[in-house]
Amino acid sequence: MTIVGLTGGIGSGKTTVAKLFESLGIPIYIADIEAKLLMNSSSEIKRDLIELFGEEAYLNNELNKPFIADKIFNNKTYLNKMNAIVHPKVGDHFSSWLKVQRSPYVIKEVAIIFEQQLQSQYDLIISVIANKDKRLQRVISRDQSTPDKVLAIMKNQMSDIDKAKLSDFVIVNNDKSTLINQVQKIHQSILKHIDNSTI
Ligand code: ATP
Repeated sequence: MTIVGLTGGIGSGKTTVAKLFESLGIPIYIADIEAKLLMNSSSEIKRDLIELFGEEAYLNNELNKPFIADKIFNNKTYLNKMNAIVHPKVGDHFSSWLKVQRSPYVIKEVAIIFEQQLQSQYDLIISVIANKDKRLQRVISRDQSTPDKVLAIMKNQMSDIDKAKLSDFVIVNNDKSTLINQVQKIHQSILKHIDNSTI
């Protein structure tokens, strides 16, 4: 099974693009969403996060998102420790999910592929890029976030130019109306790539 990584900076439109691939019949796995679900359902993750952050990490058995966000904001040690707890479990979950997919390829959306040097886990990588101002505006209105918070996250992510250089495909998402054409073209190229590599 060919695994296509879909990445891009905060607010670039990864999930929007992933949904378009899904509309073409391609199974999509959104790592962030699955991670959040696992943080509530896995007793091992829960135990380890409570050990890391204290009892306040969960409220009424649900992940205390504002508390955790506050802890990891500007604290790389906490962020890395949390990732070390959650990422391997998401990896296992993805492997089980992958086994039951029946499709020429799947899309796995992950915000940080290059930053964590995870390129080797993917057969092909698509980066979604967009103007910084547009990304900022989109995230602020989607999450009721502040410019400072979004800019701080952007600062920790690789630039669009560097990401584009390392990717097999690049989708420019400044304007929604151009997306489906770009997605359809890439879909065809991926199918061709799979055909060529199986001959
Ligand atoms: P994150 O990194 O925060 O998970 P993302 O890269 O997955 O974000 P999306 O959630 O797809 O990005 O998009 C961010 C917000 O911007 C969403 O509310 C989405 O509806 C909106 N959006 C995405 N693309 C466009 C566009 N071309 N024009 C206007 N709004 C858009």
